[in-house]
Amino acid sequence: MKLNSLIFVAGHQGLVGSAIVRRLVGAGFENILLRSRANLDLTSQQTVNDFFAENRPEYVFLAAAKVGGILANDSYPAEFLRDNVAIQTNVIDAAYRNGTRKLLFLGSSCIYPRNAPQPMTEECLLTGSLEPTNEWYAIAKICGLKMCQAYRRQYGFRAISAMPTNLYGPGDNFDLETSHVLPALVRKFDEAKLNQHPEVEVWGSGAPRREFLHVDDLANACLFLMQNYDSELWVNVGFGEDISIGHLARLIARIVGFEGTIRMDPSKPDGASRKLLDSRRIRALGWKPQIPIELGIERTYKWYQENRALAIVGAHTRTLVSDSKCTDG
Ligand code: GDP
Repeated sequence: MKLNSLIFVAGHQGLVGSAIVRRLVGAGFENILLRSRANLDLTSQQTVNDFFAENRPEYVFLAAAKVGGILANDSYPAEFLRDNVAIQTNVIDAAYRNGTRKLLFLGSSCIYPRNAPQPMTEECLLTGSLEPTNEWYAIAKICGLKMCQAYRRQYGFRAISAMPTNLYGPGDNFDLETSHVLPALVRKFDEAKLNQHPEVEVWGSGAPRREFLHVDDLANACLFLMQNYDSELWVNVGFGEDISIGHLARLIARIVGFEGTIRMDPSKPDGASRKLLDSRRIRALGWKPQIPIELGIERTYKWYQENRALAIVGAHTRTLVSDSKCTDG
């Protein structure tokens, strides 16, 4: 990738896409093509084909997806399956047909079987049943990474896939119904502290373990893979350690400064008992994460405090990527 290559970041208003744009701008890339959802409906095949035919981006980071936490996945199965399959099918196919040199597809650690041996290697895909609370999203993502593999095998299209673990950071979704656990707990502890509530409710038993990677580390990994990896096997991108939800809750409470009681709500689902990626492949290629979880949560909380009003209504990410080098039609 040259500094003046035309690079399309699909999904630049989301957590991952906005971090990739920050990283590209920081590295000096000066020709970044962006379209907001209002200007380009990625679920529409014709619209996506026309966009690619007109712009012919040389490199594509496919970070657009319908995403959400455990409750959202369970509540909107049709949308999680339909929208994600449509977005990735349209973008991958249009990129191939319009001469894109290389495409990076973003998957997720939830594609792996719920009972996969931990830490989960790339090879455990499709060796067992999926976690039912997010199988719709997982099926769509598996379809996307298989599509990358198939287009590479049949057409020689240079598509690669990265499988990140649970992500967090600035620009995250802080809506309590649809968010993932880390931003939800940042918001819950912050609001309890401000409103002097004595207690905060944390879903499930607190026993499940999750691995968390700061989204700026992921963005580094995406750029690294785009520049250094060209093979059909998807690549895990994890932090390397996991912690229990109970431990995470205590850590966030301490960082936020909440001194009340943490009450577990066992009526809410636990989901998978553990989701830790084996990231030896990308480590062997030379990438490693830089942001320890305490520091990452501190930064996320600082961002949340500075953007509280916007973060809660979800219109926040636009401000993260506005840069004169980027074109948003
Ligand atoms: P998952 O990794 O796909 O299961 O998605 P989540 O990040 O939504 O949930 C991870 C774990 O955190 C689950 O065991 C949840 O029950 C637990 N959890 C605890 N409190 C919360 C909360 O306030 N919101 C969410 N989304 N999860 C919570």
